[in-house]
Amino acid sequence: MHVMRLDELRGRIDEINLELLSLLTERAQTVQEIASEKEKQGVPKFDPLREKKMLEDLVARNTGPFTDETIRQLFKQIFQASLSLQLIDHKQQLLVSRSKQKANTVIQLGSTVIGTGKPVMIAGPCSVESYEQVRTVAAALKAAGVTVMRGGAFKPRTSPYDFQGLGLEGLQILKEVADEFGLRTISEIVDPSHIEIADQYIDVIQIGARNMHNFELLKAAGDAPIPILLKRGLSATIDEFIHAAEYILSRGNTQVMLIERGIRTYEKATRNTLDISAVPILKQETHLPVLVDVTHSTGRKDIFAPCAKAALAAGADGIMVEVHPTPATALSDAAQQLTIDEFNTFFEVIRQSGLF
Ligand code: PEP
Ligand code: MN
Repeated sequence: MHVMRLDELRGRIDEINLELLSLLTERAQTVQEIASEKEKQGVPKFDPLREKKMLEDLVARNTGPFTDETIRQLFKQIFQASLSLQLIDHKQQLLVSRSKQKANTVIQLGSTVIGTGKPVMIAGPCSVESYEQVRTVAAALKAAGVTVMRGGAFKPRTSPYDFQGLGLEGLQILKEVADEFGLRTISEIVDPSHIEIADQYIDVIQIGARNMHNFELLKAAGDAPIPILLKRGLSATIDEFIHAAEYILSRGNTQVMLIERGIRTYEKATRNTLDISAVPILKQETHLPVLVDVTHSTGRKDIFAPCAKAALAAGADGIMVEVHPTPATALSDAAQQLTIDEFNTFFEVIRQSGLF
């Protein structure tokens, strides 16, 4: 008799569980509909006042045996799960998202293809200082088998009294030298009005760490007919980095590469902290090529090689490193640019690693 009663009650619990599950499912589906409405209207996903009101109404109707506190906790859990659902949905809808596009974005620079699994080495001086300086580096890079050269013409310096770059003249030098050696070039611009000029002289526009949050520049880059190399902001989270790239794609330019260049932490042993974990996360969450800048992240020549190997082992599509004929007299980043000999040794170590 007692056994039968227990079985009956357990049977009822099983039924209630299924009813709860179906109600929770229906609730989650309604939440998704609300999320897409909010997306259309540009309304924020989390509404603390609405959540407070719903909890108050529920507690007011609580007849026990659960305490008000338990009811609050149970429903808060449901609200939290709903909010996460809305945020996950939002992320998956981003144009940069791997769930939106399974295939890797591939950037073709002449015969060099970035994003297909074969890594690229991008090297060159921090700043374009003179025709001779760039030509010396370009000749060495060409001899080493490097096909993409970097060089800054518009330099975003910490102090206004530091060398600001040669501007247009710097881009002209890059073009002249690149044409001579058959190299492709990357250079930073800091102002939307420079995009048109840059397009005439270089192959990839770099948006630097200090400008990752410059939304007008990101939008202009999104309208540009030229690939963009977007650097992670000095203190940007991975989520902010992804959304900065989304700004560019949202305007139509899908030729975007991401580059981890170290973030600010309390650590003083390196210039910034190289966030290796960003590499596999960005590869998983987006379909864009992901590179690692060993120069600006570590600021330490003595660990460029192991850090570059770590980056490649983590799945990076390429490495960026600064090279200068005479780093000691460089007009920017004197302490952390490789000499040409040091670069050749570095590149050899990377090639020998079997990761490149
Ligand atoms: C650079 O690559 O020239 C540069 C200034 O780097 P970042 O924007 O990462 O500091
Ligand atoms: Mn530099």
